[in-house]
This record gives sequence, C-alpha cells and structure tokens, in this order.
Amino acid sequence: MSLYAEKLTRRLFVSGAAAVAAGPMLIRPEAGYAEPPRPLPADVFQLGVASGDPLSDGVVLWTRLAPQPIAGGGMPDRVVPVEWEIAEDAAFRRGCRSGVTHATPELGHSVHVDVRGLRSDCVYYFRFKAGSQLSPVGRTRTAPASHSQPRNLRFAFASCQDYQGGFYTAYQHLAQEDLAFVAFLGDYIYEGAPNPAAARQHDGTGEPYTLAEYRNRHARYKTDPDLQAAHATFPWIVTFDDHEIDNNWADEIPQDPDLQSPEAFRARRIAAFQAYYEHMPLRRGSLTDGLQSSGSTWNLLANQVMWAQNDRKAGPEQSFDFDNWDGYRAQRKRLLEFFGAGRVANPVVLTGDRHCTWVCDLRPDFDDPSTPAVGAEITGTSITSGGNPNTAAFHASYDPIMAESPSRPHRRPDL
Ligand code: FE
Ligand code: CA
Repeated sequence: MSLYAEKLTRRLFVSGAAAVAAGPMLIRPEAGYAEPPRPLPADVFQLGVASGDPLSDGVVLWTRLAPQPIAGGGMPDRVVPVEWEIAEDAAFRRGCRSGVTHATPELGHSVHVDVRGLRSDCVYYFRFKAGSQLSPVGRTRTAPASHSQPRNLRFAFASCQDYQGGFYTAYQHLAQEDLAFVAFLGDYIYEGAPNPAAARQHDGTGEPYTLAEYRNRHARYKTDPDLQAAHATFPWIVTFDDHEIDNNWADEIPQDPDLQSPEAFRARRIAAFQAYYEHMPLRRGSLTDGLQSSGSTWNLLANQVMWAQNDRKAGPEQSFDFDNWDGYRAQRKRLLEFFGAGRVANPVVLTGDRHCTWVCDLRPDFDDPSTPAVGAEITGTSITSGGNPNTAAFHASYDPIMAESPSRPHRRPDL
C-alpha cells in the first residue's frame, strides 16, 4: 500500500509539474516536495463489502467508500487508492494475495476488483483498506471447475426488495445458510417516492432522476445490516428488472411518457444504470457462454419476469400481463422450441417479479397442455415487496386462476 501510494503521488506530481511548467509560474520552490497524504473522512466503509460473478478461478470484490451514504457519499473529490486482500482463511494467512485499486469520483468511489488465479470451488475471505481504515471482512466462494460434477450445489435466488415494503429478515436467515451463490433477479431498489405510511421510508421528496439521486437511493438500501450480511457472506449474480430505473419501462419508453420526454428518460436511464453498476459486484465484461455448449446436467436461467403463460383473470375471460413474456409470445415460442429440440439439458428458469411463488411447466404451446413440457420455471416470492398479504384474500384471487391455468402452476402451500 505505502509503496503504491507513493508511486501514485509521484505520478500525480509529475503530471501536475508538467501543467505548471506550461503556465506562467515556472519556478515553484515547494514543487519539489510531495504532498503529505490527506486523511480521509471517518467511516468510509458504511456500505459494507460484497462479491459477485464467481468463476472457477476468480470473483469480483466490491465496496464503495461513502462516509455520508445518503448525502452524496461524502468523499473528497479526488482519486483514492484502496488496498484489497483475499485469502483462504479469515486471518489472511493461507494463500493470501493482495493489490491496490483506485476509487474514483467518476464512479462514486466504488471499487470493483476482478481477482483471478484463485482455486475452484473454494471459500475465500476478503477485505479492503483505505487510508488507515479497514473494511469488514467478506466471505465468498469460487465456482466449481466447468467440467467437474459436484454432488450438489446449494444456492438461493431472490428478488423484489422494496425498502418501504418491510424489513430484510429473509436475508438475516439467508446469511445463516451454506450457499454457493445468491442469484438476484431484479428490483434491487424501487424508484418510488417516500411513502410516509410505510414501515420505513425512502429518502428525498420524489422519485430519483439524477445520478446523485440514484446513488443515494442505492446507498439507502445498502445501509441495511441484513442486506449487507447477505452480500458479505456469498457471491451474488445480479440482474436488473424495471424498478432499478422506472416501473414498467421498456427500451426508451418510461412508465409515464406524457411526463418524461425521450431525452429526459434516456438521461435518467443512463444515471440509473451507472448507479446500479457502482453498487453491484459486477464484472465489466459480461459472461457469454452459450447454453448449448455448456455440457451441464442442469441449465439454470436467471430471469426477471414470468415465462409461463398466465391468464390473470378467473373465469372464461382472459387477461395477460404484457410486461411479462406473455407480451413476447413469438420470441418465447422460439426459445421454448429451442429448449424442446433437446440441445439444452434440463432447462430450469428462475424468475422474480411476481411477489408470490409459482412452479410451472414450460411448453412451446401453452394452449395445448397435452404437448410435452420442455423445461420448468420456478418463480420465487419477494424479499419484501407487496408486504405481508392477507392470506384469505390471496387464496380467493389466486386459487381460481391456478385451477384454470393450462400451464398448471402449483402455488407453494406455505406462502
Ligand atoms: Fe418487484
Ligand atoms: Ca380467465
């Protein structure tokens, strides 16, 4: 750390000196001395640590320096070197490796370290250091080697964690499990305005539009100790749905096109995506291995919205949610025919979005239940979104829908 910090200071000093030489002040006696290191504000690691996108030889380590998480972060407007360390034991002795990265103001002083050269299917511990401050210790795990055959693989999937919808006790329990990874399927934040009637409130006065507002919203979620514990215990594989940006947005169309011009929405979307990247343990380049060539016994597809056809109206009348795959039937049929052609082994689609649990067969033709199922879909309930429903009311509305659905969803009895 100290060696690197010195190098960095020298590099900045050299470029600073060049700028001075080009200007009128040619001689500055103090320019010969490196600046003393400037202290950081206290408590820069309030947002915890996370890891993600595990490979058989690597994982992404994440943190964001934010001494004032809900008020823009609170970091000085300069590049800050951050030391990282990863080892096979929590005392950082076995197989320890380390390095230095930089937290920049441009990325909200977030840090994404893509560590490689690790052992496959192995638990690791990691931490960061900025100035003299140490982060909490995180735990992570690399993926099994690509052609290994582990007897089992325990993982969790989660979605829909509206901060105003309740508390993250589900993560408190999840952090006690022994899991290889957590797949998060979308709605990590909700863009809703503060609701004074909610169990706990969003900040600000309305929905986020700017980068600063999306940063504060993500930071508010990340201050939750149960969410931090789940991030600090397992690597996460994340994908976003709609609420990370705007409810039910599609391409360049916002929820309320009358209220947001295309230009304004494009700018909003860029801000939302950037804040999302800054707060997630994401690798810069995404993984593109084809399903077809995976050679795996099971192929799990993490996905945001429901694949199975789902008539949401009891009785002969039909009503479909076109925000789901019911709105993209031709594309869905093509994908399911591809599944059915036998080139993808045991496809299982994992889905969020619905705020209740469904288990469905997937068929290229949902209107003909006698055609063979080509895969399965498991839709998980929410972490908090939708709150605690009235069970009687839930059964009254969903039981008739379940009974008449050609894709035969089976609702878990414990909901
Ligand atoms: Fe949701
Ligand atoms: Ca119906």
